[in-house]
Amino acid sequence: MKYDDEKSYLFHEKDHPDRCFACAQNAERLMIVRRIAGMMLVHLCPECLLNHLEEYLLDNTRPWGGGPTNPAS
Ligand SMILES: [Zn+2]
Repeated sequence: MKYDDEKSYLFHEKDHPDRCFACAQNAERLMIVRRIAGMMLVHLCPECLLNHLEEYLLDNTRPWGGGPTNPAS
């Protein structure tokens, strides 16, 4: 995957894509949020996100990798 600004999309070193960063549960639905401490991305289950809203930012202001789809020519 390639990002426009790769340094803005680093995941926390302890983050795991199929576990919640906070409670380490293998949740069915994980959300990618930015942890304010360190500004790294982590995966959170909805419950932890709600319980720690002040520690995380929803970061969906910029597109993820892949870029714009090529117009059909
Ligand atoms: Zn959790």
